[in-house]
Amino acid sequence: MSFGNIDEAKKEYKMGGGEWYNFKIGENKIRIVSLFNHFGEHWDLKEGKSALCIGKESGCVFCNEGNKPTPKWLGWIIDREDGEFKILKSGYQVIKQISALDETDDYKFGADGLPKYDIVVKREGEKLKTKYTVIPGRKDVKLSEEEIEKQKTLKDPLEIILAMKEKIDNNEAEISEEEMPI
Ligand SMILES: [Zn+2]
Repeated sequence: MSFGNIDEAKKEYKMGGGEWYNFKIGENKIRIVSLFNHFGEHWDLKEGKSALCIGKESGCVFCNEGNKPTPKWLGWIIDREDGEFKILKSGYQVIKQISALDETDDYKFGADGLPKYDIVVKREGEKLKTKYTVIPGRKDVKLSEEEIEKQKTLKDPLEIILAMKEKIDNNEAEISEEEMPI
């Protein structure tokens, strides 16, 4: 009996499922491989976790309770630790520092609107005291042929956000297991 190439199947499943990326304490080396879209997120005090905002006009329970949403950005990155493509959900602190790089001569983004280099995000502290420092790579690093091929198959971040909102609408699930909103 054969199950075929199990490792390949596992990889494919991960890709389809869209594994989430989390910054750990210390240095996190990533490569940004898609544009990012923003959405609103609430801190659910009762549950002690984050919850997606589906918009006040769509009947968001948190908005209606006067709980203000925080902006978050979502897009694809390559985790340089294991080489896997993952979905990154990030707050203003990190996104602001990354987008500021595009305004410098040395670190200007490419024609595709993405950095041509890897980035190290250094995380210190936890929860509300979390501090992130973005350090761009000194050298431009070309994506491999395989990475470029994978990049073409990534689900549009906006579609991922819309799918998450739909799930909330249908009471199926909340967004993720992440920490306090920063
Ligand atoms: Zn809301």
